Amino acid sequence: MKSHTTLSKRSFMKMLGLGGSGSSAAGIASPLYHDLDEVKASPAAERRLPWWVREGDKPTVEIDWSTMQRFDSSNIMFVNGFAQAVGPENAMKLGGQAMETGTQNILEKEPGFSLREKALVVGGWLTSLLTTERAFLGPGLPVPFAMSGIPDDLDYPRYEGTPEENTRMVRAAAKLYGAASVGVVELDENTRKLFYAIDGWDGRKWEFEDVDKAYETKKKKVIPYQAKWVIVYTIRMSSPSLATAPAALATAASSIAYSEGTSVQLRLQQFINRLGYQCLADGNMGTSGNSPGFGVLAGLGELSRLNRMISPRWGPLVRVFKVITDLPLAPTKPIDAGIFRFCRTCKKCAEFCPSNALSMETEPSWEVQGVWNNPGVKTYYEKAPNCFSQWMKLGGHDCGICLAACPFSKQDKSFIHIHDFVRQIIATTPMFNGMFRKLDTDPGYGKDPEAWWELDLPPHGYNNTQGI
Ligand code: SF4
Ligand code: SF4
Repeated sequence: MKSHTTLSKRSFMKMLGLGGSGSSAAGIASPLYHDLDEVKASPAAERRLPWWVREGDKPTVEIDWSTMQRFDSSNIMFVNGFAQAVGPENAMKLGGQAMETGTQNILEKEPGFSLREKALVVGGWLTSLLTTERAFLGPGLPVPFAMSGIPDDLDYPRYEGTPEENTRMVRAAAKLYGAASVGVVELDENTRKLFYAIDGWDGRKWEFEDVDKAYETKKKKVIPYQAKWVIVYTIRMSSPSLATAPAALATAASSIAYSEGTSVQLRLQQFINRLGYQCLADGNMGTSGNSPGFGVLAGLGELSRLNRMISPRWGPLVRVFKVITDLPLAPTKPIDAGIFRFCRTCKKCAEFCPSNALSMETEPSWEVQGVWNNPGVKTYYEKAPNCFSQWMKLGGHDCGICLAACPFSKQDKSFIHIHDFVRQIIATTPMFNGMFRKLDTDPGYGKDPEAWWELDLPPHGYNNTQGI
């Protein structure tokens, strides 16, 4: 693909063989759609906010962009952060103990931590780990365009649409590929600060340059300034699996979500590259920047006491992913569903956290807890080393109790999730938040992991419901 001239979307669709009969649509969309216009007009393309959720110009959490700097992600727990916090020797010792615990659990067939649960976790990770390499620039164009009835050497102009049309198109495509919700953040001198300065995983710098094309060297990965739109999307996690937390089944829900996120990312890269634009990604684990932060700015949820994003529909049972593109897009607005306010009185996650990692303070704070936090947000900063130590005690996998305990996580039983009416009240006034918290008496975690294997779960372990 070489040309950079413009082409109307209708001509482009015709060239793709999608403008006429629906028979050739299979290469780009499901048989339900006959062309990209239909994709964009589909319900999946709409940003359908639940009726109690309000859009605003700012997120519900306060941000001081002047004090925020781009973060060195080697300070996160998975890279150097844990060793920095507890000392290298202790980190080594705890890592060794985690391995011993994990092995012992398998040999003793510990319910929830036995071989089959561990195998489920690594199976969940597979797609993500296999495709991490070359994630930044994408896999190229491995799928022949001939699979869509087009000669691969065709010199065609790139796709053109308005930013609003493009956002609708991208949302529809990402949802078809598996995303639960999709939003857009436009990069400027502030929002660029959510990108890390250094990718802690490979030690390379993330840099922005005034170049046409993204490129990478051994020392840096360069995003062109003109690639200024971040497509943010969520992947849901299985509620019944998280309900077994801290069993390894909860970790499996998380590892599967990472793989699904990578799968959507690869497809979006292929889709957007074929339209004639760049689509840059960070592969596994969001190594380019603060994905939940972008999710909050894009209005996919609100920040919470977990210091993670909570979706108004699925609570914290989502993982957030992102790609960066030069396809012009219309940004989506932050939302207010009353979640951050609810966190002030709720505190349930912090009460149940076995390692006291989460703040019990009523008010959020600007004070960070350590080098693993990036300042500039008035939030509930967590003691990440406490949490990571707990993961070590479990034999080296997630705990997840806080995610499962959150009242917004329960899709079926919780008072909050039975009644949209309750969520509307939470979104409107904090007056009844204390009462709603008291009514949520189910801890939400610790369900029998043996019984989980007998459940007849829907695909991916969750019921598909609409939402943002
Ligand atoms: S994962 Fe477990 S240890 Fe970590 S913050 Fe949540 S409840 Fe606490
Ligand atoms: S459990 Fe309560 S305090 Fe914690 S994140 Fe959920 S709503 Fe907020």
